[in-house]
Amino acid sequence: MSEQIQRTAIVTGGSRGIGRAVCVALAKSGMNVVVNYAGSASAAEETAQLCAEQGVQAIAVQADVSTEQGCALLFDTATNQFGRVDVLVNNAGITRDNLVMRLTEEDFDAVINTNLKGAFLCAKKAARIMMKQRYGRIISISSVVGVRGNAGQANYAASKAGLIGLTKSLAKELGSRGVTANAVAPGFIDTDMTKVLPDAVKENILSQIPLGNFGKPEDVAAAVAFLAAEQAGYITGQVLCVDGGMAM
Ligand code: NAP
Repeated sequence: MSEQIQRTAIVTGGSRGIGRAVCVALAKSGMNVVVNYAGSASAAEETAQLCAEQGVQAIAVQADVSTEQGCALLFDTATNQFGRVDVLVNNAGITRDNLVMRLTEEDFDAVINTNLKGAFLCAKKAARIMMKQRYGRIISISSVVGVRGNAGQANYAASKAGLIGLTKSLAKELGSRGVTANAVAPGFIDTDMTKVLPDAVKENILSQIPLGNFGKPEDVAAAVAFLAAEQAGYITGQVLCVDGGMAM
């Protein structure tokens, strides 16, 4: 019976912010968790500890998801430790904001490589495993900016829009094998990524949110946990906005 299978989740960028909240939410739902990170080793270990406190196993794995070698290391470590991968959450992301006229090729590439290519490389590894298992959930963290665009974030918005195209394509390619692919598009969530924005920008964003407040990492994590559950097996190719109504 599928209920007896011990599920395993890989969360990229699980050391901080939304990724950490996702790791803890999946651990709460009973999954073993692989906490991926780029450089914040102690934060990643802390996330793994928070997961372990939920009674599951969790490990932290340093790997740069923007590279093939990094993704290979991540998935090899996960399968060696847990034997399977049931859930992939493509959460790792960076920003390098600037107006198009000033945006460098280097900053364009850096954002696309981490946010979009990283998700493709991880999804490719996950697809091989999940198709054999005839079970899987691939969830990619897009953004309202990927749906609406944003001045000063052409690289980031392109990467997040790209994740939506990737998600819908994965849904069509993998659906017949019991693997779903969905995107979650957060609005403004209070994390390290958004703390650096000037107050005037924050005020402007706040004025566009019908619910009248910024989101918490846990708000996004709840949506991810829903889509990662076995019960969400008939939902695929969707973009779920968690944005206080900002993108509608
Ligand atoms: P954050 O606090 O800046 O955390 C980013 C995470 O990504 C960290 O765990 C970081 O690892 C990891 N990371 C970065 N580059 C990586 C790489 N090459 N390989 C592996 N891991 C890497 O960001 P956040 O606000 O939680 O955002 C998480 C995701 O949600 C991102 O995809 C972001 O674009 C998206 N999102 C955020 C918001 C928001 O308002 N915050 C809104 C919409 C979408 P280290 O800790 O090791 O550096």
